[in-house]
Amino acid sequence: MSAMNSVLIIDDEIMNVRLLMDMLKKEYIVHAEREGVNCVETAIKVKPDLILLDVIMPGTSGFDEIKKLKENEYTKDIPVIFVTGLDNPDDEVRGFLHGAVDYINKPFNAHVVKMRVQHQMRIINLLREVQSKSVTDALTNIGNRRYFNNLLEQEWERAKRQQHPISFIILDIDDFKKFNDTFGHMNGDTALQRVADAVRAVVVRATDKIARWGGEEFAVILPDTALPGAKTVAQSILTAIRDTDIVLDNKQVTRVTVSIGVHSVVPERAGEYTEISLVSDADKAMYHAKRSGKNQACTLADMAG
Ligand code: GH3
Ligand code: MG
Ligand code: MG
Repeated sequence: MSAMNSVLIIDDEIMNVRLLMDMLKKEYIVHAEREGVNCVETAIKVKPDLILLDVIMPGTSGFDEIKKLKENEYTKDIPVIFVTGLDNPDDEVRGFLHGAVDYINKPFNAHVVKMRVQHQMRIINLLREVQSKSVTDALTNIGNRRYFNNLLEQEWERAKRQQHPISFIILDIDDFKKFNDTFGHMNGDTALQRVADAVRAVVVRATDKIARWGGEEFAVILPDTALPGAKTVAQSILTAIRDTDIVLDNKQVTRVTVSIGVHSVVPERAGEYTEISLVSDADKAMYHAKRSGKNQACTLADMAG
């Protein structure tokens, strides 16, 4: 069961606020704002899942306020239900045209309000679940390639703007085909989970991001980190995985090793070198680690030496 959903009621009439609160407070966290003009500000502050918005309010109107909500980066995606005494179809149409998801007339029926709120919450929660699943690898529960591509692009642009270093680590399990052939695919999946756990345990800085890059490959982005720091992290990952027990389905315990490639740059403001180049250089370093014996972390510098 996920956390309780929240509702923000924007209505100047205390009686309406009370009625709505009473009918919703058992199932939701309910916030209220009686100053219509504070609508956006309060929404940013309480981050509600859903807004119930009155239309006729002193000093403003629900139509003006929904416009501001939809124009604001932080509030534009919060669904709005109008709750209003304006009950002609033109107003209702106007409400929907302004981006409302539903329209409830006053005097309202408590059961109908409840059902309509519930209906919106179901949609909101489903959307969130789908969004989160679309960027998560189901086997290891860490970010997937799609999640990582977006993030890498963002972090690359930020590093470029700030002229800060950014590092990329890629790791590939050694002789994993043999592991699968020896212990079976199910145990291979278990190994992938343990490797992901080990990486997660080592990469703890909130700004560092990990993902399952491919079949038996994982990647790490380290913003604001130059090569020495990235090499230290890579070395910790290497040893953490090497020391991780993998308990097979027959209770036998085994281990795997990985080969790691590390690269780091400060993105040039107008250079040809992109985040793809960064990945590609880390990949080259990783293949060098494979070629020269596996179970080690390498940089491009190691290739020259
Ligand atoms: P190297 O040391 O050079 O990396 O050799 P390798 O055997 O690890 O590399 P190769 O690329 O030849 O094989 C990768 C193997 O990873 C093949 C595939 O069966 C396995 N693999 C990829 N994804 C999964 C997965 O989701 N589950 C399991 N069990 N195995 C996977
Ligand atoms: Mg591979
Ligand atoms: Mg491999």
